[in-house]
Amino acid sequence: MEVLSGLRLYEFEKIMEDMGATKFRARQIHNWIYSKSVSSIDEMTDLAKSFREELKTRFKVTDTVVKRKQASSDGTLKYLIEFPDGECVETVLMRFDNRANLTACVSSQVGCAVNCSFCATGKQGFRRNLTYREIIEQVLTIQRDTGLKVTNIVFMGQGEPLLNLDNVLKALCIFNEDFQIGARRITISTSGIIPKINELSEKELQSTLAISLHAPNHKLRAELMPIENRYPIDKLKEALVNYINKTGRRITIEYILIHNFNDTTECAKELAYYLKDLKCNINLIPYNSVSDTKYTKSSNNDIMKFKYILEHSGKKVTVRLERGADIDAACGQLKGNTQ
Ligand code: SAH
Ligand code: SF4
Repeated sequence: MEVLSGLRLYEFEKIMEDMGATKFRARQIHNWIYSKSVSSIDEMTDLAKSFREELKTRFKVTDTVVKRKQASSDGTLKYLIEFPDGECVETVLMRFDNRANLTACVSSQVGCAVNCSFCATGKQGFRRNLTYREIIEQVLTIQRDTGLKVTNIVFMGQGEPLLNLDNVLKALCIFNEDFQIGARRITISTSGIIPKINELSEKELQSTLAISLHAPNHKLRAELMPIENRYPIDKLKEALVNYINKTGRRITIEYILIHNFNDTTECAKELAYYLKDLKCNINLIPYNSVSDTKYTKSSNNDIMKFKYILEHSGKKVTVRLERGADIDAACGQLKGNTQ
């Protein structure tokens, strides 16, 4: 049985041609999949019943299963999605009351090889890359379940998107063209894979690149992120300068605030210096607790002091709102297991 979700318009057209149906049917099916996000062919009510029956002999809408759905008291939803090979990922939908904004946080890999010490996904190890269809399937799952259209996407779920760049770029293109989600409403977050950042510099991507920096110097960053030994912070800076020069785009710097580790006044000043000639906004992320780590969240007072120093250096700084912590859906808490 073939799956309809994830096919492009030209692929639907090809299928219709094979079935002796008109091209217009392809548009209708495309609309049912990406705009109305139906779960079954039976719901495609503007197709004749006999035609739907014929379609059903060869196709189904999806081959994924929602193994679990959790709702946070703040409205955040978390889905555990299982693929036919039994691998699972988690996907999160965040809603912000004051904005007409539905943000999907999607995974790009099952597990992650980067193994940052503060992240639950990293602790699982790497299982495999997701295909572009498995990436977009996550957004379709949300749309099917809620009946709403996702407006923004962040590649901040499980996995390192730049280590699965081909599938991520293909998914980006489909989000753009088939879901009609503007590239500017999509953010890709990376732990700093320099060769892939260089590759992205050559593309005219309108999406935002977010860099998980998390420390202002080599020593501290290496303690958090083993990848620092491969792609050190000074080389990363060169790659970011190059990226900004080539693309003209402003990047986002993500910085987790961990109590008494990287949240001191000295760290803030060192970070401000590191970022001083980079065209960037800064997103401070209060650390979310993950079992088996020694870290704790910074105090609100320390967060505000840290923010003030960076703002004083002329940067726009936001503190990321914690979402879905009661269902382990906050940054770094995604594990994708069924236990
Ligand atoms: N692998 C990519 C994208 C997924 S992680 C990356 O690392 O950038 C998305 C964001 O959540 C990253 O900035 C990541 O560093 C952060 N994060 C991971 N664990 C966290 C934790 N325990 N508390 C707060 N943020 C965390
Ligand atoms: Fe991987 Fe990102 Fe988690 Fe690091 S923070 S282990 S790169 S998912």
